[in-house]
Amino acid sequence: MTIEWYPGHMGKAHQQISELIRTVHVIIEVLDARLPVSSSNHLLEELRGNKPCIKVMNKNDLADPAVTKAWVRAFEKQAGIRALPLSAKQHREVNQLNRLCLRLAPTRGKPGRPLRAMVVGIPNVGKSTLINTLAGKSMAKVGDKPAITNCTQQIDLRNGIILSDTPGLLWPDMSDQVVAYRLATSGAIGAGALDYTKVGLFAVEFMMQRYREPLRSRYKFADDSDSATAVLEQIGRRLGCLVAGGGIDLHRASEAFLRELRAGKLGRVSFEEPELDAGAAAGAGERQGNQPM
Ligand code: GDP
Repeated sequence: MTIEWYPGHMGKAHQQISELIRTVHVIIEVLDARLPVSSSNHLLEELRGNKPCIKVMNKNDLADPAVTKAWVRAFEKQAGIRALPLSAKQHREVNQLNRLCLRLAPTRGKPGRPLRAMVVGIPNVGKSTLINTLAGKSMAKVGDKPAITNCTQQIDLRNGIILSDTPGLLWPDMSDQVVAYRLATSGAIGAGALDYTKVGLFAVEFMMQRYREPLRSRYKFADDSDSATAVLEQIGRRLGCLVAGGGIDLHRASEAFLRELRAGKLGRVSFEEPELDAGAAAGAGERQGNQPM
């Protein structure tokens, strides 16, 4: 099946991003820590040149800590790239971003010499949340639907840093179906764009392969279950997604399962690992801290 996605102003993005990059000292690329490849956009990589770039791995509270560490190692092998895992709602974690920006452009951030940074990322990765936390008050609209912000703004953080917000400039590569399914699993794509049952089955299959134990301990499905449909049915039964006659409503089961997965009820889960998904050399090592929240 195909997930439909209409990026709209893709054509202008190239020009707008390259113009903005020329005016800034540091690029702040916001990614979802659970899927840093699928939540990125190759356009930025192409246009970045040698401008310093901080890859903010947001929603770190939901991501597998060992996998995130491996991503940081993999990213920081690239020249000019720093990676910073954080949760955009946490002031203490977000404050590290100010310090890192100033370290990357040490001659800026002084009176009369502001450090200009652009915040860029695909919809729903948490750009508005991050900017609100950085600014210390509600300046950017925050929502749980993609692309809720739609006009560029400049924000003076009054600490020597001026941010350019770039809503609507970057979009994920939805022509790749695996990317589309991962984004849908994470909740980055609005409900209208996807078939819940197929996304639910994709997510169950993924969990069976990489996080079977947390999945089994939450839903107590039979040890010998090896098909995603059979497991989703058992999850649906546990979550009370029944239809008349005792059958399972797989659509509702998928919705309920994805809601739990996205809320961290199955522990901290990463959908992409460097050695599997980016060809990077860094090893993910043993997973730790994968306790349900
Ligand atoms: P934007 O489209 O990139 O500006 O994304 P938003 O800032 O509107 O955030 C999208 C959704 O992600 C909202 O529901 C936020 O509450 C949520 N969100 C943002 N940052 C975090 C985070 O660090 N952790 C978690 N768990 N949720 C977050």
